[in-house]
Amino acid sequence: MFNIILFGPPGSGKGTQSQNLIAKYGLKHLSTGDLLRSEIAFQTPLGIEAKNFMDKGQLVPDEVVIGMISTALETNPDAQGFLFDGFPRTDAQAEALDKLLQLKKTSIAVMLALDVSEDELIKRLLHRGQSSGRSDDVDEAVIRSRIHEYENKTKPVADYYKKFNKVVHIKGEGSVDEIFNLLCKEIDDRKNVDD
Ligand code: ADP
Repeated sequence: MFNIILFGPPGSGKGTQSQNLIAKYGLKHLSTGDLLRSEIAFQTPLGIEAKNFMDKGQLVPDEVVIGMISTALETNPDAQGFLFDGFPRTDAQAEALDKLLQLKKTSIAVMLALDVSEDELIKRLLHRGQSSGRSDDVDEAVIRSRIHEYENKTKPVADYYKKFNKVVHIKGEGSVDEIFNLLCKEIDDRKNVDD
């Protein structure tokens, strides 16, 4: 198995690059944001609870997202590997993920971290809000709150993986293809060793 975390602030391009990466490497895409939006669309109790946090630009409680990821791992026993997008977002989530992967006798191969300046993030998210239908992309105050949550709670997760020498920073500004090529190079360097 080959498991990757695609890391970075809201608007750093994780969703776009995830689509390209899963197509090339045959990985199962696990985006907690997408899973939560699907729960909201079906108006499940979990979705109704999560929406209150998401609308304010706050993180959803750890136990909610950890439970979702645990279920997703169980329901995909034949996956060749997972691409985690938007997860883990707190140290507690990172520790839980390590334990869940250990049970499957696997681990994270690499965390690929997309670096994008705050001005560029806000510009991209407001632009996305014009067409995405995502209410959390329309209001600049909600966007700033998401970036604030990222700086306070999520950025430290990179330090967690740094201890195990698993973090690679990638410049997340440039064309989609340029960034994709940089990501692929890092994956190919490691995948050959793992296979
Ligand atoms: P973005 O990266 O643009 O913020 P996401 O789709 O990843 O978009 O996340 C949207 C929202 O869903 C977040 O602002 C947060 O409220 C919630 N969310 C997604 N993933 C997590 C997570 N791992 N832990 C807590 N909340 C999450």
